[in-house]
Amino acid sequence: MSMFRSLFRKRSKLPDTKALESYVQGDSEGNVIAANTQKRSSTEDFLDFWIQNAVEMEASDIHFECYRTYVRVRYRIDGRLKTIKNLPINLHSGIVTHVKILSKLRIDEKRIPQDGRFSLTSGDKKFDVRVSILPGYFGECIVMRLLNSDSENFSLQKLGARDKDVEKLSNLVSIQNGIIVVAGPTGSGKSTTLYSIVKKISSSERKVITVEDPVEYQLSGINQVSVNETIGMTFATALRSMLRQAPNIILVGEIRDRETAEIAVRAALTGHLVLSTVHAKDTINAITRLLDLGVPSYLIAATLRGVLSQRLMRKLCPRCAKAGVFDPEFLKRIAPEFPIPDDVKVSEPVGCAHCLNIGYKGRQAVMEILSVSGTIQKLIDQKSDEDTLRQWALQEGMETLQVIALEHYVRGEIGQEALLALLAEMN
Ligand SMILES: [Zn+2]
Repeated sequence: MSMFRSLFRKRSKLPDTKALESYVQGDSEGNVIAANTQKRSSTEDFLDFWIQNAVEMEASDIHFECYRTYVRVRYRIDGRLKTIKNLPINLHSGIVTHVKILSKLRIDEKRIPQDGRFSLTSGDKKFDVRVSILPGYFGECIVMRLLNSDSENFSLQKLGARDKDVEKLSNLVSIQNGIIVVAGPTGSGKSTTLYSIVKKISSSERKVITVEDPVEYQLSGINQVSVNETIGMTFATALRSMLRQAPNIILVGEIRDRETAEIAVRAALTGHLVLSTVHAKDTINAITRLLDLGVPSYLIAATLRGVLSQRLMRKLCPRCAKAGVFDPEFLKRIAPEFPIPDDVKVSEPVGCAHCLNIGYKGRQAVMEILSVSGTIQKLIDQKSDEDTLRQWALQEGMETLQVIALEHYVRGEIGQEALLALLAEMN
């Protein structure tokens, strides 16, 4: 019996039952789909099958894209889309209707985009499903984001942070006041890292308030506020009010304008620990970004305590990865200064049922951590350029994202192609 069946119980019956059965079982493209091939009898069960399948495949979102003659089902797994199946077009309206019923959207409205949500439980995992429906040329397209709201996901160790990184971060966040920012592009897992940090330091003695755009995961014991710009609730307005609630720790989803940056600085100067994210390519670039927002350099120097920059690295599937042939020339070409260790072990992806033939399974965070020392403070105050700042940071022992990625490569944890993609993402 299906684990989601109760969700769909009350729904009215829809046509196409025979077609559904054959298409759930078959896979004309030779893609590996879940082993769940038991007979299904309705659109509810059909949709149920795809959601359950996506959960099993650890997908972050499910896409039903409508074309002239078929509906393409794709999952995003580890940040990449994977086509799972093309379904015949006659299943389209049933799928859309059921997704709309589940997420309490208007069934008869097919011309404008609609957003909704529903929650579901799979085994011991709880998911918040965000639904977006967009009218396309051939019909409505659906994207369902599966947000796993279990707080156990918010752990630095689970993110793949190395023990020494966890220790460095623990030291950084043990301070009572100052600003710590996480830098990285969209999709680099900044929020997950921030939540993990907050979870680590929140306690019954320290009050934490967050302001986010929007609140995506509910964390127990933490006051969370959503930004709503249409009613004038910006990061800056929310921050100002938050300070009157006497928090110890403030999490601001993102510092993206001067006003927010200034309030964050003021909060840090008045005894708060402020955690936030900045859209920047690495730790040093994050300092430049803050200066570019118009905050005086002496204030950044006085408040910034640490910067973490992060990327997500795809991990080779442990079940099918094979040993590769190491080519020293390759490393010399891409990273002439990287010292090649004696015990190099490189691996390459293969692909198996476990990883949906991708060759990679799961991701882990690669973190560059900068603790702002007295010297770096002085350099920030003097508005030193990025090269000078970086040089000092390296001298003080900072490991760059690139070096950490290369270390993963020579330990056989990432393939050559994925390494190059990861390095390209760092520039
Ligand atoms: Zn595999």
